[in-house]
Amino acid sequence: MKRIYLDYAATTPADKEVLKEMLPYFSENFGNAMSIHSFGQDALQAVDSARGKIATFFGAVPSEIIFTSGATESNNITIKGVLKSYYSKAENAKIKPHIITTAFEHHCVLDSCKTVEKEGLAEVSYIKPDKDGLIKVSDIAKAIKSNTILISVMYVNNEIGTVQPIEKIGKLVKKLNATKKENEFKLLFHTDATQAVNYFDCNVAKLSVDLLSMSAHKIYGPKGVGMLYVKKGTTIKKIQDGGDQEYKMRAGTHNVPGIVGFGKAIEQIANRKTQNVNRKVLELRDYLIAKVSKEIPKAVLNGSKILRSPNNANFSFADVEGEGLLLSLDMEGIACSTGSACSSGALSPSHVLLSIGLKAEQAHGSLRFTLGKYTTKQEIDAAVKKLKTIVERLRKISGNILGEYYNKSHKA
Ligand code: PMP
Repeated sequence: MKRIYLDYAATTPADKEVLKEMLPYFSENFGNAMSIHSFGQDALQAVDSARGKIATFFGAVPSEIIFTSGATESNNITIKGVLKSYYSKAENAKIKPHIITTAFEHHCVLDSCKTVEKEGLAEVSYIKPDKDGLIKVSDIAKAIKSNTILISVMYVNNEIGTVQPIEKIGKLVKKLNATKKENEFKLLFHTDATQAVNYFDCNVAKLSVDLLSMSAHKIYGPKGVGMLYVKKGTTIKKIQDGGDQEYKMRAGTHNVPGIVGFGKAIEQIANRKTQNVNRKVLELRDYLIAKVSKEIPKAVLNGSKILRSPNNANFSFADVEGEGLLLSLDMEGIACSTGSACSSGALSPSHVLLSIGLKAEQAHGSLRFTLGKYTTKQEIDAAVKKLKTIVERLRKISGNILGEYYNKSHKA
């Protein structure tokens, strides 16, 4: 059976060129980038070269790029490191700081915020998106208080693909900071750009961000490596003790092959733009949305159709369970995902879909399809054909079960 992968937001396959560049750094160029001898220096050179490419991509300087194990770590460093820096100043001890984030961030941001809240280190406002999955700049503005020190808003939502007004929020933060007096708290602005890097402008000056996170495995790079952009002068402290790597911001031996692959993967993003690969992905996504909407009754696209990542289509299918759909599709070799999370044996509906106003049962009947550079029209056709059959079958079963229940309860 030929398998069809429609889950590029979960991860992407490492590009062959990326893998080729990485391979020597597992074996012949295996040095530790912190070693002084030539083996180490070769590794350091490779790390610095990748750092340069990544800095260029983001319009940053190399010393502002901190390699991490991925966006989860970068986001943890952001929330916890900014607070650590805040509390390192004795005069701040009396004022509990305030963080603004959104209700539909990835769990690594949400749970970091919940942790610091529980520990009594910060108060947090969780801004709700509108029904289209968009955060309003005015809602962010309204939430800002005199003790707000950090705003963290994701660039592209990982479940519904909606694109947030990062540039506008950045401008707002910049304007507010310009009016602040020397002794007032400056606002820091962070964006989790993990799902944006492939398709959107991530120039840090244009976005006016102080911090930006991402993972290499979402851009056809390797897993287990990512970065945090930290604008020069940002008040943040490391949260992990150990060696002096990464300008003393992130201790631990460099993942040299991973970093090399990350550098190559970043370089390839520009090629995909010029070779119209992204346009092809967008056209396929629109084809998928149109086909599903036409051929499957009661299928609703979640999130704005316009302000949306070129590779994301997230649907709710009435009267079916997303998990059932997902497993049935998987048996046919088609891979996609649901936003439902399994906690203690029960499925909890996606916090993202609930945040845009879906009812729990609608959120449960949802599927995310995310496309990538290898996706073809034939794959979309095959996937929709199977999906249609499976939705019909599952609806019949759930209809029968409901019917039986109805009959029984009337007889009783
Ligand atoms: N943020 C977003 C928006 C993501 O999509 C992901 C990955 N699904 C992460 C953070 C976490 O990335 P990683 O698991 O690579 O650390």
